[in-house]
Amino acid sequence: MRSWGNLAFAAAREVVRLPSRSACLPAGRPLLAWGNGRSYGDVCVNGGGTTIHTRSLDRFMAFDAASGRLRVESGVLLSEILDLVTPQGWFLPVTPGTRFVTVGGAIANDVHGKNHHREGTFGRHVVGFELLRSEGERLYCSATENPEFFAATIGGLGLTGLITWAEIDLRRVSSLSIIQRQERFHGLRQFFDLNHQAELDSEHTVAWIDCLAAQPRGIMISGNHAENEDSSPRPARALNIPLTLPFSVVNRATLSAFNNAYFHRPLAQGPGPYGPFLYPLDGILHWNRLHGRAGFFQYQCVLPGGEAPLAEFLQTIAASGEGSFLAVLKTFGDVASPGMLSFPMPGSDLAFDFPNRGATTLRLFDRLDAIVAAAGGRLYAAKDARMPAALFRSGYPGLERFTQFVDPAFSSSFWRRVMEQQ
Ligand SMILES: Cc1cc2nc3c(=O)[nH]c(=O)nc-3n(C[C@H](O)[C@H](O)[C@H](O)COP(=O)(O)OP(=O)(O)OC[C@H]3O[C@@H](n4cnc5c(N)ncnc54)[C@H](O)[C@@H]3O)c2cc1C
Repeated sequence: MRSWGNLAFAAAREVVRLPSRSACLPAGRPLLAWGNGRSYGDVCVNGGGTTIHTRSLDRFMAFDAASGRLRVESGVLLSEILDLVTPQGWFLPVTPGTRFVTVGGAIANDVHGKNHHREGTFGRHVVGFELLRSEGERLYCSATENPEFFAATIGGLGLTGLITWAEIDLRRVSSLSIIQRQERFHGLRQFFDLNHQAELDSEHTVAWIDCLAAQPRGIMISGNHAENEDSSPRPARALNIPLTLPFSVVNRATLSAFNNAYFHRPLAQGPGPYGPFLYPLDGILHWNRLHGRAGFFQYQCVLPGGEAPLAEFLQTIAASGEGSFLAVLKTFGDVASPGMLSFPMPGSDLAFDFPNRGATTLRLFDRLDAIVAAAGGRLYAAKDARMPAALFRSGYPGLERFTQFVDPAFSSSFWRRVMEQQ
């Protein structure tokens, strides 16, 4: 069984597709929904259990083009929503860095985007959903009806039951073009200065960072929907990596050459279609195969505490010589999520891919974990395949309350891994 990181996990005993949203849950135990498998590790994996594929729940149920309120089944992809609503001047209020995720998966991981400092997480824009529990009960959950199940299911890692459909509020945009600005930075002081200004001026902010540089350097990227630019998205053909390579093409030599070239490339400025700006990796289908048969880990954490822990974290990675082209730094704002186990909290959000080199990679993660724990931060379960139970527990103070809402028939390889270690 492989999710996006291509790491090997124990396979499910049974895979089931629900014929409709009114169907009953299968009898096999333990149960877990699988959306589109865009989580990197085992949060969507149910080794030895029953996996419920939700892509068959793909119907649009209602759309009010005046208010932007949309009701869809949980297996609908964000890309399918964009296809329907963008011609009518509507857009997703929050979107992760790929549009190939389902609505159920976006709620269960309470995903965030480049506009977290303004809009918070996806869950903030969810009006309500139906939760199908294993005893057959169907709960409508919102901020006022079954509010505790609402809060537990947003960011609830698929453990509270199956979301069959959901209602979300979209946002109006006057154009599908995004006007972007890019600036190089040298050192973390300059990053924080540019980032502060970018957050004031722009809806979307994110930085690429050179993970091998002894002194942190990178490119600050920000953007806003244009007021009146051409609103027709330019269709682009995605490249495809047709097969998994035998070994990772990412090593110190290729990485250093790439990072140098990328840092010095001409910077993009001005208007362009939203796709390449919000979803740069969607332009290369199955890019995860570049990491070879052993797969790769993503290490994503949030570090409160400003410059000092961030500098230590980056120095630790640079000294290790490990890492990847994909190295992202963003600051989360203080817009609270409704979810009990949501990942974002105020601080620096870092996401790095690492080819799986076995014990050396895992030893590096132990050192990074210590920095995250000392800063009072947390790791993102959607990207995780190895976090120790103690770090999960210390990072998520809502965990104890959350466990009361876990459906007794639902579980995941992630959940068993972090809970059985307790
Ligand atoms: C290139 C790339 C970029 C990404 N960028 C970001 C980013 O910027 N921000 C971010 O937050 N994440 C990001 N992600 C992670 C991704 O957004 C999340 O992992 C998302 O939850 C995946 O959705 P999915 O539909 O593929 O769900 P899966 O990965 O299949 O499942 C995710 C979780 O949702 C549960 N689930 C799925 N459907 C249901 C349902 N109907 N009912 C109950 N539970 C359900 C599953 O059990 C599992 O626990 C990125 C991933 C990729 C590959």
